[in-house]
Amino acid sequence: MPGPAVEVLRLGLMGGGQLGRMFVHAAQRLGMEVVVLDPVPGCPAAQAADRHLCAAYDDLQAIDELARQCVAVTTEFENVPARSLLRLARRVRVAPSANAVAIAQDRLEEKRFFRRIGIPTTDFFAFPGSLGSAAEGPDAKLQWAGTAFAPPGFRYPAILKTRRLGYDGKGQVVVGSAGELERAWRGLGSTDCIVESRLPLHAELSVVLARGFDGVCAVYPVFENRHEAGILASSLLPARLSPPLLEEACAMTQRIAHALDYHGVLCVEYFVVRSPDPPQALDTPRVVNAARAAGSLILLANEMAPRPHNSAHATIEACNTSQFEQQARVLAGWPLGSTQPHRSACLINLLGEQWWNRSGVFREPRWGAVAALPGVSLHLYGKREARPGRKMGHLAVCGTTAAELDVRVVETMNLLEGLSREGSSTKRLSTQQEPVDGPNRGMQT
Ligand code: ADP
Ligand code: MG
Repeated sequence: MPGPAVEVLRLGLMGGGQLGRMFVHAAQRLGMEVVVLDPVPGCPAAQAADRHLCAAYDDLQAIDELARQCVAVTTEFENVPARSLLRLARRVRVAPSANAVAIAQDRLEEKRFFRRIGIPTTDFFAFPGSLGSAAEGPDAKLQWAGTAFAPPGFRYPAILKTRRLGYDGKGQVVVGSAGELERAWRGLGSTDCIVESRLPLHAELSVVLARGFDGVCAVYPVFENRHEAGILASSLLPARLSPPLLEEACAMTQRIAHALDYHGVLCVEYFVVRSPDPPQALDTPRVVNAARAAGSLILLANEMAPRPHNSAHATIEACNTSQFEQQARVLAGWPLGSTQPHRSACLINLLGEQWWNRSGVFREPRWGAVAALPGVSLHLYGKREARPGRKMGHLAVCGTTAAELDVRVVETMNLLEGLSREGSSTKRLSTQQEPVDGPNRGMQT
């Protein structure tokens, strides 16, 4: 005679990329099930999920079905329509909220929000500005925007960025002066943009935390990030900057999470710059004091991601509780796990380039050799097509000490370098075409 059925918590996920896939793995380990809503058949998360609703993110029937099947829903990318989250929230627990996601979707709103709550950022202004009237014509409006709307003393070079949908450095262009703005803006498709002062960066950091529905926060140690061509290349856990600066980054991130009444996993990216180059609005004594305490290095918030973040993938191997497990815990209403690392770690991203050797031959790298390295965990995301710049997988290199980690990172980089000289063309198992990352994806960094 069958025994009584055990209760299974079923969670919903908007988006089916690699972040979703790792979330599915973490939730399933806790005995939960995951239903993924994503328009791309066979997307990375759907390969692992218990169920896949293959539909657009604004498909009302699919959204209602997700709400019917799940006790709680989250998103793994910020471009999910805020309206869909609002609709879900009428019936189930949703984390993060539509409001938090809507702010993170728009670089201008995001920076205004940071400033409003006293978090410093680079100097910025909207482009085109909003004061031009139709009567003046579009060109008059543009001219106004490039001059009148820049804060006094705004410094070039600057970066023109699309307000929405940019990710991995896409939708950005460097401009040397106000005179170059209009042309650059047209090059980005004449869409709403933000102009930011381009700063010489001493370092880049990210802080990842989880915040439960009870307002309790668990913050990971700070990550130190290295980007190449706008894409995250590697991330060190923990960061090796001065403790007061790192503490300030954690405090700022908690302030941001609190101001948003945020639920779920949140990442905030920071620039570290030398204090002779602060932006003008560095006016809060608290921040200036922190800068002094940190020995002339100051923090500026760059952007936030309302979800687990690429820089924190090594929490799977190096911490007691991974960022993905934290997301599942928040949704389930469980207490958060410990963010304590038990090892030092370095994340190394594997981009599509890796599939071409130095002679331009497309072949499968010898992943077995990588997996055999001591302290190295290999993750491949199950993407069917490699393309330059596309995130295909990552390595988490771990060491019990920083010195051991450094040796292992060098060994790993040497092996990857060696592999790039190897190989003749092999036939792919699948030649199936797949859209880049699904329609209107993006910002999955
Ligand atoms: P994305 O959404 O593509 O990650 P970011 O704004 O984070 O967009 O930009 C990607 C990278 O480009 C940053 O991590 C940093 O290395 C560089 N960058 C962006 N904005 C600036 C800036 N204002 N000054 C200097 N470097 C910048
Ligand atoms: Mg970024």
